[in-house]
Amino acid sequence: MSGKILLVDDIASNRIVLRVKLSSAFYSVSQASTVDEALVSAQSEPPDMVILSAHLPENGARRLISALRATPGMSDLPVLAIAPPMTEAARIALLELGVDDVLEKPLDNLHLHARLRNLMRARAELPRVMGLAEPMAIYERPARILIAGHDRAKVVGLRPALAEQTPHRIAFADFDTLPAVISGGEAPEAVVLVVDPNHSGAAFRMLSELRSHARTQHAATLVVFTKPAKNTTCAHALDLGAWAVMHSGGPLSELSVRLSALITKKRQNDRLRASVQNGLRAAITDPLTGLHNRRYALPKLEKMIIESRAKNRPLAVMLADLDHFKRINDSFGHAAGDEILIETCRRLAESIGPQDLLARIGGEEFLIALPDCPRTTARLRARALCDRIREAPFGLAGKNTRVPVTISIGVALYGDEPCTTESVADILAKADRALYGAKAQGRDKVTFGRPSLNGRLTA
Ligand code: GH3
Ligand code: MG
Ligand code: MG
Repeated sequence: MSGKILLVDDIASNRIVLRVKLSSAFYSVSQASTVDEALVSAQSEPPDMVILSAHLPENGARRLISALRATPGMSDLPVLAIAPPMTEAARIALLELGVDDVLEKPLDNLHLHARLRNLMRARAELPRVMGLAEPMAIYERPARILIAGHDRAKVVGLRPALAEQTPHRIAFADFDTLPAVISGGEAPEAVVLVVDPNHSGAAFRMLSELRSHARTQHAATLVVFTKPAKNTTCAHALDLGAWAVMHSGGPLSELSVRLSALITKKRQNDRLRASVQNGLRAAITDPLTGLHNRRYALPKLEKMIIESRAKNRPLAVMLADLDHFKRINDSFGHAAGDEILIETCRRLAESIGPQDLLARIGGEEFLIALPDCPRTTARLRARALCDRIREAPFGLAGKNTRVPVTISIGVALYGDEPCTTESVADILAKADRALYGAKAQGRDKVTFGRPSLNGRLTA
């Protein structure tokens, strides 16, 4: 697996040993011996992950993590701390600083590489959009957490201590009932699997299931081993998609610190995905009217044409254009023109069905496509659209006047003639020529494209 790792350790021999391990797994490695060097390196060559010594001099780990977390684009950079064997309190302190995990020396290659793969994969699965992944300093509501183990009664025993340490709402299950619990009710934001490392089969099957289930695929998953687990078992859990693994040796505070960190990360990921979704939606939406725009409409029309051909049913493709719209702008102002556009869209949208396509593809020009619509129906539907716009003059906000508005429509029918080889461009050109005809005939009219003598269809 490739990726860029920034290695920060003040002891040269440590860097050399780790660098060899990382390079052998094809990571590209840059090195720094101080916090300042690390920050310069991270800026000039942004890494995919930082590995730092937990004991950098002068509180270096704290300073480096705070600086990274405050740097746009690096706030969600995975950070792994390497430390000598340490107390649980020291490990918790590092986790609270914001490291994603702590690996204790001597480093086991299998565990190290599984951890790196796991963090790299989680990062690669997220869309990267500058400025959207920054943490938000807002009050976070309590999360729903599901804790599951071989024996429900045992995991329920965690409730009192956990309730003291976390604000979250916790539900309990055993591995047999976990799928049913996940399928019903509110989806959990985090799932904790309490696992006996010597009998990990059922738990690990659950781990894979959580990753593939729509309701939990983005949930944070934490594996808590009830006894010290072999490195191969830890590596296996990480490769199956656990966000982190830990031992349940000491007090529960490590669990609650890890849960808080994972839930924060999970919510940050959710926000990032939502921003990307919103961006994608915005890219295909006209901001003035909320209708689909040209970018959405043309590929959609192509799909509708393919369907029409496959089903051998006619598709009516209409271009509707407001009549003398420039005059409306000139008489009442551009803002009034915008109001007329919005109301036109509202009326058109009311008049079409869920299978139909309506999009604003130009300033005052709309594309309407009606599947399964033969010529006579198309004529009636197009005339009804003209009636709907004409029948009630448009009101304007704050003005005591009503504006008469009309539209003209050019129609191209796809699939009611033997010639069915037209492209989207051919059909739109035909509808456009028909529209031109409607304008020439005095506007507020519906005109159809006609078949030409050589078999091609023209207006
Ligand atoms: P025709 O009946 O031949 O279509 O005449 P028209 O005046 O409607 O057509 P023309 O193409 O001459 O003018 C279209 C006008 O639409 C010009 C442009 O300023 C206006 N327009 C385009 N987009 C918008 C918009 O988003 N808001 C407003 N208010 N006006 C717009
Ligand atoms: Mg016009
Ligand atoms: Mg126009």
